[in-house]
Amino acid sequence: MAKVLCVLYDDPVGGYPPKYARDDIPKIDRYPDGQTTPTPKGLDFKPGELVGCVSGELGLRKFLESQGHTLVVTSDKDRPDSTFDKELPDAEIVISQPFWPAYLTAERFAKAKKLKLAITAGIGSDHVDLQAAMNHGVTVAEVTYSNSISVSEHVVMMILALVRNYLPSHQWVVDGGWNIADCVERSYDVEGMNVGTVGAGRIGTAVLRRLKPFDVKLHYTDRHRLPTELEKELDLTFHPDAEALVKVCDVVTINMPLHPETEGLFDDALIGKMKRGTYLVNTARAKICDRDAIVRALESGQLAGYAGDVWFPQPPPRDHPWRTMPHEAMTPHISGSSLSAQARYAAGTREILECWFEGRPIREEYLIVAEGKLAGAGAHAYTPGDATRGAEDAARFTGSPGQGPGK
Ligand code: NDP
Repeated sequence: MAKVLCVLYDDPVGGYPPKYARDDIPKIDRYPDGQTTPTPKGLDFKPGELVGCVSGELGLRKFLESQGHTLVVTSDKDRPDSTFDKELPDAEIVISQPFWPAYLTAERFAKAKKLKLAITAGIGSDHVDLQAAMNHGVTVAEVTYSNSISVSEHVVMMILALVRNYLPSHQWVVDGGWNIADCVERSYDVEGMNVGTVGAGRIGTAVLRRLKPFDVKLHYTDRHRLPTELEKELDLTFHPDAEALVKVCDVVTINMPLHPETEGLFDDALIGKMKRGTYLVNTARAKICDRDAIVRALESGQLAGYAGDVWFPQPPPRDHPWRTMPHEAMTPHISGSSLSAQARYAAGTREILECWFEGRPIREEYLIVAEGKLAGAGAHAYTPGDATRGAEDAARFTGSPGQGPGK
């Protein structure tokens, strides 16, 4: 029988379960490319419930315990001697979410002698040292496509929020003012702007599709060209690299994985090549951007705004400069964890577990590492190497999580 160690974010400060705003969520059977949404044999929660936090347990407890497995759920992952570190040595399966990542570093792999499967309940397994997973023969799987559309909606929201100066204008209302000139002195229309995505996979393409009706000029760069019909349909301009794209865009959104090739791509040099006053939206991974270069560019006006929901580490310390830099519209890492998205990635996690325990193959599109090498979606998205360098970097922040008030 397996011990399953699951790391999830904390419950709401108001208690669990929350009072839900709605009674149901739309039923989605297929993603835009035809891939079916997760198909577990059973489900022990109602789609639309908060299952991504500790008490939600991804809806897995009944299923696992009925088969004799042990489930340990914790949010305590970064402190020295954290619950995660204490429970890891005899865990066979680790489940973690990018929103609250349990950094599976080489050092932790060395201690996790029984570990066989690491599941990302979501998309993006860069918090796992994939090279170490390959070396230790650990299978890594994620729930591909589960929250791609969720993220694309967040990207569109953030582009509009930045360009139209939404959040500062809202603040004037909250503060009791009616300062129209103060609100509009940085407010523009998106219409007619050049908007580009660096990375045009599931999320990037969904962003392009959603922005088309805004009558913007759309640009993209990617390792591979999109089908000609799609380029024509959306009137896309392809650029051979990020530098060529950023030179002509007013809004740039980043939608590619973090791996050694993309880490630190948006540094002073690349940002310096952008048009003055570009808006940058990054919901991919924080480390694709140089943290301090972003702050410098906002302070100098080279960037007119920066928004995103990805940070390093997660949670970021209270004094992380992205909390207080000018013209930001940051959120915690939430774009892919809407209640709608949770229903899919929790069901996908259950599907992966059912396959694992029954000895059935895990869907190829969910696999990142298998049998000592990159596999499935992982072979496509990642390059060998440690994308996180998490061991060293995360250690610098250990013990300084920036959670909610009073924590
Ligand atoms: P996809 O794999 O569908 O798309 C990523 C695209 O990026 C691919 O088309 C890939 O190219 C391209 N790419 C990779 N490396 C480069 C490079 N060096 N230069 C240009 N293009 C590159 O992934 P998704 O769209 O589903 O997700 C993208 C990322 O978004 C994820 O890796 C994850 O980090 C992040 N994410 C964030 C979430 C959140 O909650 N904020 C939730 C889900 C994902 P090709 O395949 O053609 O080689």
